[in-house]
Amino acid sequence: MQLTDLRSDTVTKPTPAMRQAMFSAEVGDDVYGEDASVNALEAKTAAMFGMEAGLFCPSGTMTNQIAIKVHTQPLTEVICDITAHIYQYEGGGIPFNSGASMALVYGERGKMTPQQVEAHIRPLDNVHFPETSLVALENTCNKGGGTYYTIAEIAAIAEVCQRHGLVLHLDGARVFNALAASGDSALDYGSYFDSISVCLSKGLGAPVGSVLLGSAAFIKRARRVRKVLGGGMRQAGYLAAACSYALDHHVARLPEDHRKAKAIEASLLQRDYIASVLPVETNIVIFKLNDRYTDKAFVDALAGKGILASSFGPQMIRFVTHLDITDTMLDHLLQTLQALDHTPVLSA
Ligand SMILES: *Cc1c(COP(=O)(O)O)cnc(C)c1O
Repeated sequence: MQLTDLRSDTVTKPTPAMRQAMFSAEVGDDVYGEDASVNALEAKTAAMFGMEAGLFCPSGTMTNQIAIKVHTQPLTEVICDITAHIYQYEGGGIPFNSGASMALVYGERGKMTPQQVEAHIRPLDNVHFPETSLVALENTCNKGGGTYYTIAEIAAIAEVCQRHGLVLHLDGARVFNALAASGDSALDYGSYFDSISVCLSKGLGAPVGSVLLGSAAFIKRARRVRKVLGGGMRQAGYLAAACSYALDHHVARLPEDHRKAKAIEASLLQRDYIASVLPVETNIVIFKLNDRYTDKAFVDALAGKGILASSFGPQMIRFVTHLDITDTMLDHLLQTLQALDHTPVLSA
C-alpha cells in the first residue's frame, strides 16, 4: 500500500514532468554566476514579487539566516512571534550566525499585530537595551496552523517599521499558500518587505531549494554570506529547473490542498476523540486529542493504516496536505478517522 504521508509538505517527490525538466536543464558553475537555470529561477522569482534580485539557496533555513545576518549587527534585536520558525526551528541560528537576540511576541496563532510590534521596539539611546534592527513575519504561520496575514495587515506592520527605521523580512516558506488563500498579489509584497524567503520544496513540490529576494545591493551581500556558510553550489541548475517547473505548474493547484485540509477539518469536528481543531485556513491541520488517545497512540494507530502524521506536542497532531496526497488517499484518511471513533477511553 502506498503511504499517505501527511507529516509535512516537504515529503513530496518530483513528478515525471519535473524530473524531465531537471534532466534537460542547462547548467553551469553557479559560483561563477554561469548557471543559466539558476539565473533564470532567481530572476523569475524576483519578478513575481516585484523585487530586484534573487539568490538560490539549499534551504529555507539558509535563506532566513542569510537575510537576518545581512540585515542585523551583533547586539541588535529581531522582533518575531514566539512560534516563528526562525526562533523555534532553526537550531538557535540567530544568535549563532548573527550575534543578535530576539524579542518574542505572543501573537495570535503566529500573527503579530502592528501594536504588538511597536510595543516591542526598544527605546533609542539607552545602553541597557539591545537596539531593535529587524522585524520578521512568517506567512503562512506553520505553528499557528497555517494562518495567514492579508496584505492590509502586512501594510500596517510595514508602516510601523518605516516609522521606526526598521527592516522587514518575510519567512515565506509557504507564501504561495497565503497568496492562494488571501487572493493578494505577490507583486504587492515587494513594496512592503525588504527581503522575502520563498521555499520551493514545501507545497510547490520541488525536491530542494529556496530563493531569497531583495534589492540588488542586499542580494550582493547575501551572496557573500551564502558562500561563507558553504551554500555556494556548482551545477545547481538541475535543482533550479525543478523549482522553476514548480513555479510554473504547481502554484495554481494549491487550492486543492486547502480543500483537502478543510475536508479533514470537517471530519475531525465530528469525531469523539477530538478536544479541538485550529480553524483551517490553508494546508495545515493542527488538532488536540481528548483522553481517548495520546498523541503517540494516535500516530501509531494511523501508521497501522498506512497514514503518517506528526505529533505536534502533548495531545497535539499535525497533518499537512500537499501535491502527493490524492483524493483516494484523502478518502482513506477520512474513513480511517471515522473508524477510530468509539474506542474505549485510555484510562478505562
Ligand atoms: C520549512 C520552513 C522553513 C525552512 O525550512 P528548511 O527545511 O530549512 O527548508 C522556514 N520557515 C518555515 C515557516 C517553514 O515551515
